[in-house]
Amino acid sequence: MAPIHLKSALVTSNAEGNQKVTQLVQGIIQDIRTNGDKAVRSYSERFDKWSPPSFKLSPGQIEACIAELPAQTIKDIKSAQENVRRFAQAQRSTIKDLEVEIQPGVVGHKNNPIDRVGAYIPGGRYPLLASAHMTVTTAKVAGVKEIIACTPPILGQLPNATVAAAHFAGADEIHILGGTQAIAAMAIGTESIKKVNFIAGPGNAFVAEAKRLLFGEIGIDLFAGPTETLIVADEYADPFTVATDLLSQAEHGPDSPAVLITSSEEVGRQTIKVVQTLLKQLPTADLASRSWEDFGEVVLVDGIDEAFRVADEYCSEHVQILTERPREALEKMTNYGALFLGERTCVSYGDKCIGTNHVLPTRKAGNYTGGLWVGKFLKTQTYQEVRDDRVSAELGQLCARCSRAENFEGHARSGDLRAHYYLHEEYDW
Ligand code: NAD
Repeated sequence: MAPIHLKSALVTSNAEGNQKVTQLVQGIIQDIRTNGDKAVRSYSERFDKWSPPSFKLSPGQIEACIAELPAQTIKDIKSAQENVRRFAQAQRSTIKDLEVEIQPGVVGHKNNPIDRVGAYIPGGRYPLLASAHMTVTTAKVAGVKEIIACTPPILGQLPNATVAAAHFAGADEIHILGGTQAIAAMAIGTESIKKVNFIAGPGNAFVAEAKRLLFGEIGIDLFAGPTETLIVADEYADPFTVATDLLSQAEHGPDSPAVLITSSEEVGRQTIKVVQTLLKQLPTADLASRSWEDFGEVVLVDGIDEAFRVADEYCSEHVQILTERPREALEKMTNYGALFLGERTCVSYGDKCIGTNHVLPTRKAGNYTGGLWVGKFLKTQTYQEVRDDRVSAELGQLCARCSRAENFEGHARSGDLRAHYYLHEEYDW
């Protein structure tokens, strides 16, 4: 049986919208390249109605933000960051420097942290303070020397909890600046923001596109745009749980696809009904119902293996497995941002507090990368040393022949020089 859509997406291609975003973002980047801080301020005024004397927060302003928060919120921020830190530390411990003797003399690699990182913490619709845990905490574990955090204001106000989270995570500077203007300012450098080497963090379509266009000038973590979620469910899944979890991600924004792939027609049809009921009660239904209508899908497939195959093709950012044997997905799927196995966990745990990173690949980037992790803040850099005359002479001869095969005479002579020297032969350069 070919997959059957019990509910289809109304919008099947966002190509035109993507093109408009690219054009707008290109223009903003060009303007900031030419006019620096003046342009940054004009876009902050235009998109966020935000033009404070300084975008960078003073220590006093940071303390004032923290003072506004209930004690429980501060405790929760620290608990979530501790989980992210512990997982990142465990991952860091698996990354080893390496030195091997392929022949007398050595080749090796070292893992050096990036010097200066920009962490983007989204905040257009929601104060996404968990992105501070994911970017800043992880960069700190990697040993990054300087971390600049940027996050937009929320309705003209300082986002107190986000500022606190960035501070507790260890950001060296916090700027209240959002969107393309923040990414471009960090990537290009302006009079008031020193250029970074690398930018990490999720964001809306403008933020993700700005990172993509500036890649090369700076490094980026990955393409982490508007959230996507997909659930694989069999007849053991509870439609109420499936519907709740689909909406938990659809509420991210009007462009966040939520997809159910199921081998059970009953679960599929029930889920569609329950989603409609829950949307009547969800306070964020304005966003969630738009993304469900435009991008939501329910696909009926023939058996659970087919469900895994179709899910792999979707290559969604989040994939939740609500089946009898959820761990099967570890064997049967390879294209996704992150897996959430079984009904005792959910994407929201990953988003907020369980310890895995929530900055994850979207728009099928899971075909070539996983999400943000401590390794993305490290540069694996090689070195070599030859400790034996005879080996250097032999490598010199090999190198000279290899170089001449490519018509590189200069390279060849570097090899010749050593070959003759270590063989104690005269060399007429
Ligand atoms: P955001 O901080 O990403 O973007 C807000 C900024 O967008 C504003 O500061 C403004 O400057 C700019 N902006 C808004 N409208 C604009 C316009 N018309 N033209 C130019 N610039 C404009 O916050 P957000 O909008 O709430 O989006 C957060 C996004 O992050 C969501 O789409 C969410 O799904 C996504 N997200 C992704 C991941 C991931 O790992 N892939 C994780 C978490 C969140």
